[in-house]
Amino acid sequence: MDLNKNLEKYAELAVRTGINLKEGEGLIIAGNLDTLPLARKVMEKAYEAGAKHVEFQFNDDEMILIRYNKGKDFVFDNYPKWKVDALEAMYKDNYHHLFINAPDPELLKNIDGKLVARSQKAASLASAPIMQYRMTGFTKWTIIAMPSLPWARSVFPELSDAEAIEKLWEKVFEATRVDQEDPIKAWEEHDKNLKKYKSYLNEKQFDKLVLKGPGTDLEVYLAEGHLWMGGSKESQKGDSYVANIPTEEVFTTPHRLKVNGKIKATKPLSLNGKLVDNFGFEFKDGKAVDFYAEKGYEVLEKHMENDEGARFLGEIALVPDDSPISNTGILFNNTLFDENASCHVALGRAYAYAMRDGSKSTQEELSERGANYSLIHTDFMVGGPELEITAYEKDGTQVKLFEKGNWTF
Ligand code: ZN
Ligand code: ZN
Repeated sequence: MDLNKNLEKYAELAVRTGINLKEGEGLIIAGNLDTLPLARKVMEKAYEAGAKHVEFQFNDDEMILIRYNKGKDFVFDNYPKWKVDALEAMYKDNYHHLFINAPDPELLKNIDGKLVARSQKAASLASAPIMQYRMTGFTKWTIIAMPSLPWARSVFPELSDAEAIEKLWEKVFEATRVDQEDPIKAWEEHDKNLKKYKSYLNEKQFDKLVLKGPGTDLEVYLAEGHLWMGGSKESQKGDSYVANIPTEEVFTTPHRLKVNGKIKATKPLSLNGKLVDNFGFEFKDGKAVDFYAEKGYEVLEKHMENDEGARFLGEIALVPDDSPISNTGILFNNTLFDENASCHVALGRAYAYAMRDGSKSTQEELSERGANYSLIHTDFMVGGPELEITAYEKDGTQVKLFEKGNWTF
């Protein structure tokens, strides 16, 4: 593998397909020290595309730990307003946002889960105004990931550090289609395919989906006027951009009060830097009334106490078992990848844009139609080679969507 050449292709994919940066626009790159080799290439591609300015915003895992370990108690209910204001000023000034994650999946494993939850709650409350810019397509944004040493070690514990990093890069390039001759063209085709399923599901407006698999027998009614989404999004100016690279899902909004039955996660979940494994839920009238977890029970419990909506579903997503990520055959220990390996549902907030007229409706109107509200949005994976999904039309007509984990058409 020619790492340098692939980095170049990855950077180009992020700028052209991800953000779709236009001449005269600004770019914010968020990343840590590990991301510098890729961030520099991205900066190069951004200026080549005509960026007016590229700003690198630095974050650091060690510093995050210092804050948790040394900060006084009140620190964790605060989030600096000027940070939100600065970002808002940049967004208003036509800056778009690329997040490069080089994560440590167990960074917070020795930090009190309650503290983490409080801190995240303060951050999401404070950031609500800027989230609005991204949710409504005013600001284009993209999340990509690159291997860090702790991440590579967690995926390939049996390999040496150097081998683990190299191997994880290979898998990242496969999963993002960067290993293909022309990744930008490959993404155009992939996007067309996602749009095909999306249009079909939107035309049908199915009443409910029934998921069956090992440990799973769940009935999920869809929200009134739910909208299936997937692939590229369109900004307010009409530019298409891809918020997650990779993405393999088409997804929509379940009815928050009409979910019944059992569901078992098929992959572990990294939650606030902690791992939750072998877990599942029982839903009654939309609410997770019971749950179990072999590992990380407490952090999951705490997470669901965030607010009232944290125990209800806000997303259901369909991903074929036969897709580049799933075909890598590994668990990435990273939601960006693992959620795209598999069908999933999310606890917490529904996306307004996954509802008809969603961005024009108030939260009350959306709730009325069944869209859940919460400060959290946490995906967990439920897909796999044995998952079957049947869709029901309003008149009771059944259509088998998934068989043995894949689309039937
Ligand atoms: Zn999703
Ligand atoms: Zn999600």
